[in-house]
Amino acid sequence: TYVVTDNCINCKYTDCVEVCPVDCFYEGENTLVIHPDECIDCGVCEPECPADAIRPDTEPGMEDWVEMNRKYSELW
Ligand code: SF4
Repeated sequence: TYVVTDNCINCKYTDCVEVCPVDCFYEGENTLVIHPDECIDCGVCEPECPADAIRPDTEPGMEDWVEMNRKYSELW
């Protein structure tokens, strides 16, 4: 799955939302978030983010962001 990370804070461009084929972006506290169970791992959103905030969860050090994305996307 892909996750939204710190570069999204107070940014919230919505280019990613527009390209996601499964509409799995949700509004977080001060970022957008990706619902980890809905993301199909297509990767389309990553290059679309003008802030370079979307990363694959397989990168090192992503644990906190994975948790944050899950926490806020499950509020909807
Ligand atoms: Fe949506 Fe694909 Fe990005 Fe997952 S990787 S959030 S399915 S555009």
